[in-house]
This record gives sequence, C-alpha cells and structure tokens, in this order.
Amino acid sequence: MTCVLMRYLSCLLFLTLFPKAFAEELKQDSLLNHNKTQVVALGYHEFSAVKKGSAMRITTSLFAEQMQAIKDSGIRVISLTEFLQWRKGHLELPAQAVLITIDDGWISVYEEAFAVLKKHRFPFTIFLYQNYLNGGGRALTTTMVNEMLQHGCEIGCHSKSHPLPSSFRKKQKVSPESYQKYLQTEILFPKAFFEKTFQRPVTTYAYPGGYQPPETLSLLSKWGYEACFTVKPGVITRETPFEALPRHIVYGHLPQTFLRALDFPVTKNSSFSQNQNTQFPVLPKAGSSSSDRFAQIEIDLSSLTDLDPRSIRLEVSSYGNVPHSFDPIKQSVSWKPSIPYRSEEVIARLFWKKTGQKHSNLPMTWSFQIELENSYLQSLGQ
Ligand SMILES: [Zn+2]
Repeated sequence: MTCVLMRYLSCLLFLTLFPKAFAEELKQDSLLNHNKTQVVALGYHEFSAVKKGSAMRITTSLFAEQMQAIKDSGIRVISLTEFLQWRKGHLELPAQAVLITIDDGWISVYEEAFAVLKKHRFPFTIFLYQNYLNGGGRALTTTMVNEMLQHGCEIGCHSKSHPLPSSFRKKQKVSPESYQKYLQTEILFPKAFFEKTFQRPVTTYAYPGGYQPPETLSLLSKWGYEACFTVKPGVITRETPFEALPRHIVYGHLPQTFLRALDFPVTKNSSFSQNQNTQFPVLPKAGSSSSDRFAQIEIDLSSLTDLDPRSIRLEVSSYGNVPHSFDPIKQSVSWKPSIPYRSEEVIARLFWKKTGQKHSNLPMTWSFQIELENSYLQSLGQ
C-alpha cells in the first residue's frame, strides 16, 4: 500500500514538473500491461438448429448460450484486426480477450450463427477454403460472406482444397519443385484469390486439420501471413510465435471444451491481478491487498434475477471447493478460512447458474493479495 502511495505521490510530483515525460512513462506502463494480455481463440465449424452436436457441429441453442456466457462474463470479444494490431504492439487490450473463429465456410454460419453474433455485436472471423466457397449445397456464397463482412465479420484463408496431411506427403515424394508448387497452390494463391474476391487484405491462415507442413514455416511471412492458427488448445500472448497460434476447438457434444477454453490461466506473472474486473461486487476487491490472513470472501449477487442458489460453488486457490454460506435475503455468498491464507495471491472462482439453466456460466474469477509479511509482523506485535 505504502509503495503504491509513494509511487502515486512521486508521479504527482513528476507530473507537475515534467508532464511530457510523465506521458511517456504512462505509455510504457500500458505497453507492459498489454504485453501480458492473454487471448483465447475459439474455433467453430458447423451450426445446426436440428441436428445433434458433434466434434464439428454445435447446436444453435448451445452456441447462443455460449455467446451469452461470454457476454455475461464481461470478457471482451476482439476482432481479427484488433488481434493483429495488438500483436504488433499498436493496441492495448484488457487482461483477457476472446477471438471467435469459424472454419471451412458452411452455410450455417450465415443461417444460424450470424444472427447470434450480430445480436451481441461480436466480431468474428471465417477461415474459408477456396474450393468450397460457392460450392453449392451447404457452402457459403460470396454474397453471404459480403453481407457478413458489413457486420463484424472478417476473413482468413483455410487453403485451396482443404488437403489432408497425406496429400502433402504424396506431393513431397514427387519432386521438390512440384512440392513447392503445391504449397503455393494451397497456401499462397488462395490468399490472393480471397483478396481479389473480397477486396481486402487477407493475412491470416488456419491450417486445415491443424496440420502445419514444416516446410512452409519459413515461407509464411514471405507470403504475407501475419497470424497462422493451429487446433492446439492454449492461450495466445504477444510472444506466441505467429506460425503456431493455439486455438481451442469447441466441440458441440462436449460443452466443457468451451468452459475449459475460457478458463484463463491465472498466474502470479500474468497481468490478471493488476488488470481484472468482476461482474459482481466482491470482497476483498479484485487486485486489492489485505493484511488479514483470515479475510472473509464475499460476493454480492443481488443484481442477479433467477439465481439458483444450489448451483453456487466457490473455489479458492489451495483450498479447493469451500463450504460457503448463502444469505437468501441479501443474495450474497460468503466464506472465511479457518486456516490462514498461506500464499501471497489468493484466487477465487465463483460458479453459478440461473434457475432452469442447463449449462454453467463462465466462472467469475478474481484475485487479491495477502501481505504475508505485514500480517506476520502484526501477529508478533500482539
Ligand atoms: Zn477445416
């Protein structure tokens, strides 16, 4: 606390004396913060109002629930452009952000997902493959894509023919020259095709089936690609290599793939503790510090209608699920540890549902600091 106050006072002095230099310092600070931003890229394929969910397909209702959960969590959904600007260091983002991507170019993107995304004004990216666009049947058309481009949609390339890894291997066996040509046909030329068709730069690629031909890694940037996505789950930071950006594929039959994807790792080194916000009032406040090693945790859920009290679960780092109390009149959740906090950073996570809601919401996660040294000194003095 004292340290923060000192810093504030010195900044104030600094500001009076050197306003310009202060602005520089602020700029550097924010750069430091956004360097630690974590972005989760979600990957979807097909949507259906009637067919069951599978690895490649999600029901429209579950997709709508997931988008609502993101909305409720307050986690920012960013556009591909914002993502690329942030990667270059030209844009600052909150501690956590989500990028929504959809592969292949199924017509159901337009017929099912588009309305849901538009409702929330969520930007999204479609990774198209050239041979499927305007392919009839269940494929998107240029007209549909053009309409979506007016409403938060951006496009990336997903190859020419969506080749399997075996196709690459087969071509490689023929000759180095024909293989080189094949790589250009599948990865470079469709980029130009989409740029011409949609009159905009296309600088991102999603590897079909997640397969990265090793020989392409050195070519991607030469060919003008700035961001290439795999299907390996993980979190993206500014330091993640651009040729292998992780992405969480959301399986329509396994809703936990969605929850797991958005379970951002909270580590001491992430910017989470300095840059977090909570959708409900909590105590100790997010990012605050306390010298009370028995600090009570409180969550005020009074703004929630239709809360199902039985669905509430409170998880506290190193304690696991804790036996919380629920006050039905105040609609608040509380818990006080019987064993003192032992780590400097306490991470709390609240799970809850509304009455009748099938799937869980994204948990609300926050952390606060315990000044172990101060509390030790205090206990000595007593
Ligand atoms: Zn695909």
